[in-house]
Amino acid sequence: MKLRAVKPLLIITVIALGFFNAYATTSNWISFDQTTWQQLSSNSKTSQLIRSHLKGPKLHLAQVDRRQLNLLTEVIQQERERCGGFVLHSKVSNKKSATGLLEKLNKPTTPQVRKPQVHKRDKYLRKVDADYTINQQAVVPKWMEQVSTDRMDKTVLHLSSYKTRYYKAPEGVEAMKWIAQQWGKLTAKRTDTKIELYDHKDYPQPSVILTIKGSLDSVIILGGHGDSINTDDEGIHSHAPGADDNAAGIAVLTEILQLIVNNNYRPRHTIQFIAYAAEEVGIQGSYHLAKVYAKRRTNVIGVIQFDGVNYKGPSYDITLVKDYTSQQQNDFLASLLTTYQPDIKWRYELCGYGCSDHAAWNYNGYHASYPVESTAAEQNPYSHTAEDTFDKSGYTTDHAAIFAKLGVAYLLELD
Ligand SMILES: [Zn+2]
Repeated sequence: MKLRAVKPLLIITVIALGFFNAYATTSNWISFDQTTWQQLSSNSKTSQLIRSHLKGPKLHLAQVDRRQLNLLTEVIQQERERCGGFVLHSKVSNKKSATGLLEKLNKPTTPQVRKPQVHKRDKYLRKVDADYTINQQAVVPKWMEQVSTDRMDKTVLHLSSYKTRYYKAPEGVEAMKWIAQQWGKLTAKRTDTKIELYDHKDYPQPSVILTIKGSLDSVIILGGHGDSINTDDEGIHSHAPGADDNAAGIAVLTEILQLIVNNNYRPRHTIQFIAYAAEEVGIQGSYHLAKVYAKRRTNVIGVIQFDGVNYKGPSYDITLVKDYTSQQQNDFLASLLTTYQPDIKWRYELCGYGCSDHAAWNYNGYHASYPVESTAAEQNPYSHTAEDTFDKSGYTTDHAAIFAKLGVAYLLELD
């Protein structure tokens, strides 16, 4: 019913007709929210790049010149307090399919499930197969004690030593291969694991997927992006060390994996660790992957995103992102914090559209959460610049350790 009411509200604004054919091969559609539209249309540089614009009640779509994506990213991200802000839809070839996509984007996530205990905002997500009972108190604290910042430091040091991990740069490919190599080495002695470099057709950077096969086919995903960006001067030659954003997130994933191996843990569910490609340029890697999982009807019972974990804000240690996430799973994370890290100061906050890879899973109906460092107003000032280096956090992953511990609790309790 809601959907029918939405339809007549879709207003189509064609800004530059006649350019369709000429730009058919170099253009892409991106989606974003109303605030971003205001930014793009009021900026003289970016307003010229928009070939065509479709306005929905909540989200918009614009056809842009793919070669100018870097300028768009720069403008969108400079005015935002976090990563992301838009989603790139590489498979949309004409305006007809764009109109269809616009309608889909403005619909609540499918399929619809209504159950009395479901949070109002979650009612369009899949049925929750997860058990959020907290009963692993005998195990979780023991694992939490094993979290090693020394090991995490090494991961951050290495990953931030690449000149850039930009999705189009050769170093961006090398860095992903290195992550795959590390995760492969870590799990080499196990027979229940598989490591995969997942190729994305539109750009050279692969995503990395490490699978630990459980006795169940249902999947728990722990992820973070492997790429980096310098929005002051975007391109393959700019310096983008991305120590906090997001070498530290990969360090958290690697540490949780290390503890699984050290404790010879055999999961019930299938566990996947994913280092996503091309998050900084419209959450492209995760958007593609989540779509594939949804198409295959993979039963992902929970997704957690680690992106920006090592900067300690003055007021809060963790922000739980409230929009484009699953409130049921967020409640679960809140209980995990209360149970296992009661001294941690955290709060809920909105992050906006396409804020990080969790949004791709949420869009496909999966229960995803995004705990992130600090608050948006007090966020890391060096993010997306050449200055996002490890020395800014005093060469330590102390703050990221909070997230590794939360990840450990999430894994052990959800599994
Ligand atoms: Zn990031």
